[in-house]
Amino acid sequence: MNPQGISLVTGASKGIGEAVAIRLAEAGFDIWLNYLSDHKNARRIQGQIEELGKKCTLVPFDVCDFKECQKTLAPLLEKDTPFSIVNNAGITKDSLLIWMEENDWNKVINVHLSGFFNITRTVLPFMLRKRKGRIINISSTSGETGVAGQVNYSAAKSGLIGATRSLAVEVAKRNILVNAVSPGFIDTDMLKELPIEEISKNIPLGRIGTAQEVAEVVTFLCSPGSSYITGQVISVNGGIYT
Ligand code: NAP
Repeated sequence: MNPQGISLVTGASKGIGEAVAIRLAEAGFDIWLNYLSDHKNARRIQGQIEELGKKCTLVPFDVCDFKECQKTLAPLLEKDTPFSIVNNAGITKDSLLIWMEENDWNKVINVHLSGFFNITRTVLPFMLRKRKGRIINISSTSGETGVAGQVNYSAAKSGLIGATRSLAVEVAKRNILVNAVSPGFIDTDMLKELPIEEISKNIPLGRIGTAQEVAEVVTFLCSPGSSYITGQVISVNGGIYT
């Protein structure tokens, strides 16, 4: 039995999720690593986590699909309960609202908001029985302020902040802490189409952030040191929105 416990990280085959899974493994957690399609990268990360002496169970499924989520996690939940969930899986489908396709609205809302519901609703009953746990939802600066071209994404990420605050109040008495981490521009595949140099000029710290810098904050929120923090949004954005 691992004294630190298990962390379930969604969307962890690359980017912020990858950095979070590896950093949590360094901090002593075994990892249930969810992702959608990138099996090769997921297996590479699994190997890296095993080299750290931690277990890494791959759980590939679409977080939008409640039945699939339940079917995949049920056999694992029969034996173990994660101490923490990091709801990180995400996509963007940017366009001005006037041209936004219905499918691009639905898909973005589903991955972020229904994904949060599907995972959390599946695991929470087990956490409640243990009377301990941490839930960290990865929001975005786009959920805190306006960004043209991201009405779907902003709506999803703001929604996640609302869900974080309400769930924090619901489960506080059972010693389950729920927080959001809100990254600004972070160097991952999600930004590969964007003009990074131009963007960096408008960031007070003069650069975009690293996935590692987000992972550090998530790991703190999974540690004993954050035991009096719940219902909060912690921004990791280089000062771009204060
Ligand atoms: P990324 O590099 O594009 O990685 C996205 C991850 O999510 C991948 O592992 C992908 O899996 C997974 N995923 C996508 N749809 C999924 C689904 N339906 N079910 C399960 N997994 C799914 O993105 P990132 O930049 O690391 O972003 C991670 C989170 O941070 C997202 O929630 C994003 O909105 C948020 N965020 C990012 C930034 C940024 O600047 N990068 C800023 C603020 C917030 P496969 O690749 O295996 O398909």
